[in-house]
Amino acid sequence: MRKYMTAFLASGVIAAGTISTPAATGDAAFGPSNPFYAPSTLPFQAPPFDKIKDADYQPAIEAGMAQELAEIEAIADNPAPPTFENTIVAMEKTGRLLQRAMAAFGGVTGANTNPGLQKVRADEAAKLAEHQDAIVLNAKLFARVAAIYKQRETLKLDAESQRLLQVDYDNFVRSGANLSDADKTELKKLNGEIATLSESFSTKLLDATKNAAFVATDKSALDGLGDSQIAAAAQAAQGRNQQGYVLPLQNTTQQPQLGSLRVRATRQAFFEKSWNRGEQGDANDTRDVIAHLAQLRAQRAQLLGFPNHAAWKLGDQMAKTPEAALKFMGALVPGATARAAAEGKDIQDVIDAQKGGFKLEPWDWDFYAEQVRKAKYDLNDAEVKPYFELNNVLENGVFYAARQLYGISFKERKDIPVYQADVRAFEVSDADGKPLALFYCDYFKRDNKNGGAWMDSFVPQSKLLGTLPVVYNVANLPKPAPGEPALISFTDVTTMFHEFGHALHGMFANTEYPSLSGTATARDFVEFPSQFNEHWALYPAVFNHYAKHYKTNEPMPAELVAKIRKAATFNQGYKLTELVAAAELDMQWHTLPASAPLQRSDAFEKQSLEKMHLLLSAVPPRYRSSYFSHIWGGDYSAGYYAYLWAEMLEDDAYQWFEDHDGLTRANGDRFRQMVLSRGNTEDLAKMYAAWRGKDPSVEPMLKYRGLQESGH
Ligand SMILES: [Zn+2]
Repeated sequence: MRKYMTAFLASGVIAAGTISTPAATGDAAFGPSNPFYAPSTLPFQAPPFDKIKDADYQPAIEAGMAQELAEIEAIADNPAPPTFENTIVAMEKTGRLLQRAMAAFGGVTGANTNPGLQKVRADEAAKLAEHQDAIVLNAKLFARVAAIYKQRETLKLDAESQRLLQVDYDNFVRSGANLSDADKTELKKLNGEIATLSESFSTKLLDATKNAAFVATDKSALDGLGDSQIAAAAQAAQGRNQQGYVLPLQNTTQQPQLGSLRVRATRQAFFEKSWNRGEQGDANDTRDVIAHLAQLRAQRAQLLGFPNHAAWKLGDQMAKTPEAALKFMGALVPGATARAAAEGKDIQDVIDAQKGGFKLEPWDWDFYAEQVRKAKYDLNDAEVKPYFELNNVLENGVFYAARQLYGISFKERKDIPVYQADVRAFEVSDADGKPLALFYCDYFKRDNKNGGAWMDSFVPQSKLLGTLPVVYNVANLPKPAPGEPALISFTDVTTMFHEFGHALHGMFANTEYPSLSGTATARDFVEFPSQFNEHWALYPAVFNHYAKHYKTNEPMPAELVAKIRKAATFNQGYKLTELVAAAELDMQWHTLPASAPLQRSDAFEKQSLEKMHLLLSAVPPRYRSSYFSHIWGGDYSAGYYAYLWAEMLEDDAYQWFEDHDGLTRANGDRFRQMVLSRGNTEDLAKMYAAWRGKDPSVEPMLKYRGLQESGH
């Protein structure tokens, strides 16, 4: 019984492009000829991509749902009295076919999709959601779980089993399994209304964003953009049957072109289009929808026994309560805003030196920050890239750091079938030579790949199921011409370390139960191992081992290394402030009680920011309430803080390594044993504190971001 959502998909859409495979059909019968029918016989039960055809997925997914439902019903209808073994453990064993099919399907639709597969995905989405509901709302099943939970003190379960029982029970309760029939009906009604409003928000925002694109009739308004950007703007206009030039809006408040647009009036108009996109008083105005959404969510939380939506959402997170998340954000505000103010002053100095004669406004920030960056932090990608050849970064950097810390080794397996020719597979062995995991990497950009970078699993580790982990990393690094080396930027290097940190979390998993294994942890914890692993990219003993010129093998000159380090602190005050402001808005909306009246979005937003000392004229929130799609259209409500929370953990954790001789096997093994191998088998705050020797604190985060000197 697992959730089938891809965990780490960075926001991104499928790029339209050269896609040729014909549509898969879903009506093929399911039988032994289907490659998902039985567990794979390949090493590590790796998916048999040499045998899997597009048409195999849909019948396997549908048969998988039917099979899991039958297995669940057999548990629920078992005439024997409920026991931990015949109910909780039995649930862990269900749904294997669906897991196999969905894991491969998720991998391929994320990284190598086509219209046929996309259609299957769209067709199955609602069915999968219904399937999950059918399990968590199975009253007979919950009655058994609740009966076992009631006797938990007398069962003498080991710690991991106790945790599983708690997690399962909480999941049922949080989904409403404990409610009376009348309340369940009310819950379904609220769920339906919330889903409809959330959908309506997304639809309105899509149109609002499209309509708010900046239009210029005269090319001179776009002064500062490169030829290719201007060509793209002309093309965007043509695509809309408009004259002139169109700059479509990105999701965020700030727009990438604002860094180069020279005409101040253009910047202001473009920024205001972005800022006011959802507040036009027309059919696409989202303010009414979000006010109602916030209220309905609060009502649902109340029905489920929580004071507000955030309290309901955070119950299974490391932070546990909105108060803890708010306190954490509050601790970031002084350092972040003081640093942003200092950055703002640097920018105002540039404006004044150029006799601009105006006060810095948000639409000026990126344009002048770019000049400050060039003057103070200039890092030339072309100068740096020859030292970062992809394969060298992978084997002598990413793998090397893991070998130093954890003693693991890597051997490429050309015999493991892959879903696309650029994908590589490595067998990973433990220090004692025992097989540990299979790791795939798929680094190059393709038109049929989602944007961003992510990690996921084909096979989750579980002692109960006898499986070792099969995990993969995907990214969108530029693919070189045939025969040329793949030279990448330092940002791309960091991405490789980041995703490999997730991979380590998956590969070191050493748990009994699949649903507690590896990266199956809370949202405010899951980015911790990955962000933590980024630290090794710049660690001298690692950096010096991989950052070598691809032609001469010379190490990177010291002054270039210093530039990379310095560049990492550029504009950090702004970036952190805009993130905290957005996370704060999210939390303020979602800590409203059910009794609160409908909010007027603008007033509420202003009040919330003011209360937290985040109402700053030049640094607006990264998303404004009216276009904050993570929290209204997506599943990140009361969860946007999680990005920052995980950053606190990674910096706090790295501080521990710094205090204990850094990159050593002893440190790595201890971290692996107490954190990375343990998935969700213990309360995450306790797990962290046991390893760290104390609760996490925010000071290392401020220090590593260069914010401490101006903080309090
Ligand atoms: Zn990540």
